[in-house]
Amino acid sequence: MKKTIRDIDLRGKTVVMRVDFNVPIKDGVITDNNRIVQAIPTIQYAVEKGAKVVLLSHLGRVKTEEDLAKNSLEVVAKELSSLMGKQITFFNATRGETIKKAVSEMQKGNIIMLQNTRYEDLDGKKESKNDPELASFWASLGDVFVNDAFGTAHRAHASNAGIASILKDASVAGLLLEKEIKYLSDATNNPRRPFVAILGGAKVSDKIGVIKNLLTKTDTILIGGAMANTFLKATGVDTKASRVEEDQLELARELLASANGRIILPTDAVVVKEINDNPVTRICKVNELEDGEMIVDIGPETCGSFDAIIQDAKTVVWNGPMGIFEIEALKQGTLSVCESIARSEAISIIGGGDSAAAAISMGYADKFTHISTGGGASLEYLEGKELPGIECLTDK
Ligand code: ADP
Ligand code: MG
Repeated sequence: MKKTIRDIDLRGKTVVMRVDFNVPIKDGVITDNNRIVQAIPTIQYAVEKGAKVVLLSHLGRVKTEEDLAKNSLEVVAKELSSLMGKQITFFNATRGETIKKAVSEMQKGNIIMLQNTRYEDLDGKKESKNDPELASFWASLGDVFVNDAFGTAHRAHASNAGIASILKDASVAGLLLEKEIKYLSDATNNPRRPFVAILGGAKVSDKIGVIKNLLTKTDTILIGGAMANTFLKATGVDTKASRVEEDQLELARELLASANGRIILPTDAVVVKEINDNPVTRICKVNELEDGEMIVDIGPETCGSFDAIIQDAKTVVWNGPMGIFEIEALKQGTLSVCESIARSEAISIIGGGDSAAAAISMGYADKFTHISTGGGASLEYLEGKELPGIECLTDK
């Protein structure tokens, strides 16, 4: 067990807090502020306990000079300020004497936010390679380190593992990180059964670890998305022009054999000959594709059989959409799974960037027990891996 922000005294302390403000921004406008909203309870908690808060976050990737301006956190600082109704002092810098001085002059309840931690990646990837000098500057700003950035917990960067290695006895989990771990760990290690996983998305190869780990824990795994094509082909189905990972067929066969009937594949599909914004679709059994056709979503019969299994489940973990949901005509399978989960009584968790975005955009945000804020991090957690951003924190 790791210490959390609730286990320590914050009064008068300066807290260096790593949050995940890596939000989508288009033409200078934040298109989804969910990650900012989710970070507020921890910031609010620290403020209420009389701490001074220095916020750190990354935003996008910074490889060239041009990446700097479009990944500035200034717009995020403004959004946070308006959501909290509180002044946030933003520094367009990641280190330096000006920051040190400003932090030393902070009053209880003040909030300062530094520029994108990955600005430090421009010259030698100092943030992403966990440069010790950089970590020690950030650590020098505070008495306590709070990590609330679940979305980056699968990485050992200067702004999480680096700082924690210096503030050893005073590095704790924030409320969001704590919540993420609790839901994911209860669901996977102590599930109410039947425990059903729904896996989809682009590639088997991305999710081998997840399938293997979940096979040891779940009662049933439902597979959709492009991933299902590889499994179908492995069983001898002629998938025609469907997207298939030929180099994963052998592995798919092995997984199916070791699953002993617990992996359920689609029986029908939505197929197209060409993918565009307004495709001509046809529904057929998976073994009745014509030349040139490809599977782009699960079909209605599959939606029905998946629904029956989901209604019977007590725990559902979902990762990866059932079809190319970004296209209006190809979102029915993903929508149907949302609908099934919304109707079921099961504890439901989505851990997957695209699947979470799909469920939120389709209006199901409040129908799940928990929607993870970390795509890659939740995937690695579901693989059974230890996350360095959590491991680095102080033990209870
Ligand atoms: P997540 O982020 O939820 O883990 P992935 O990144 O693995 O999901 O996969 C999401 C992508 O998979 C989506 O962009 C979607 O269009 C694509 N996809 C789903 N089904 C198919 C399919 N049958 N053919 C091609 N692409 C698919
Ligand atoms: Mg994805």
